Amino acid sequence: MLTVGCHLSASKGYLDMGRQAQKIGANTFQFFTRNPRGGSAKEINPQDVSNFLTFANEHHIGNLLAHAPYTLNACSADGKTREFAEMVMADDLRRLEYTPNSLYNFHPGSHVGQGTEKGIGMIADLLNDIMTPTQTTTVLLETMSGKGSEVGSRFEELAEIISRTKLSDKIGVCMDTCHVYDAGYDIVGDLDGVLTEFDNIIGLDRLRAIHINDSKNPFASHKDRHEKLGEGSLGLDFFERLINHEKLRHLPFYLETPNELDGYAKEIAWLKSVYRR
Ligand code: FE
Ligand code: FE
Ligand code: ZN
Repeated sequence: MLTVGCHLSASKGYLDMGRQAQKIGANTFQFFTRNPRGGSAKEINPQDVSNFLTFANEHHIGNLLAHAPYTLNACSADGKTREFAEMVMADDLRRLEYTPNSLYNFHPGSHVGQGTEKGIGMIADLLNDIMTPTQTTTVLLETMSGKGSEVGSRFEELAEIISRTKLSDKIGVCMDTCHVYDAGYDIVGDLDGVLTEFDNIIGLDRLRAIHINDSKNPFASHKDRHEKLGEGSLGLDFFERLINHEKLRHLPFYLETPNELDGYAKEIAWLKSVYRR
């Protein structure tokens, strides 16, 4: 069965997200752990979580993907900014244990002129400070488009972060289709070739989730502007091949396309209709 969902608003809590997901035909979803600007998070309401877990069990909703605020920078040149990222991410990991075995995705960061090598070291240091042997959450590094001084637009950079992380069995990768295409990996023209490269450098067993977005920009543009499926440079045919690919079809897919709930419902219905049994 296809595991598919989209990004949902967490403002009304977990049970509400479960209901939104069910309403649009999703069996998974992504949400921000807090305001994307990174402010303080509402404390978890254990009753809401318990109601949600019952609902999710009944409606076969799983593979929760929590997304860290995208304004955090684990490899900022400013120590205070790095400390803030560390504090927020450590708190997110603590809160995520309310929903065991979740995924936690974050943008590795921007080295802001310090160089990729230094950035990679800072990101690995932060992960080594916040990850614990008892956590059930898998932390995912998102593949980035390479805009500005972003770290993580090359598979080699992600592999290097993982190799320097102590609890690396709890680390994986979330591939964003818009980002990898913008970064210069031709998933449209040669999906097999890109997956082979991913496998050789990172290992396909590390690939745990896919952000499924079309791109407003052409190949290798290093831009990162998401588009609705079929309305950008990747095209509908690509997404049909992607979700049916032998090496990917078991993974959870999360839409982050510019849509409201009804638009997501349509994309999810289309994805299900082209998914081969
Ligand atoms: Fe992201
Ligand atoms: Fe993404
Ligand atoms: Zn993006």
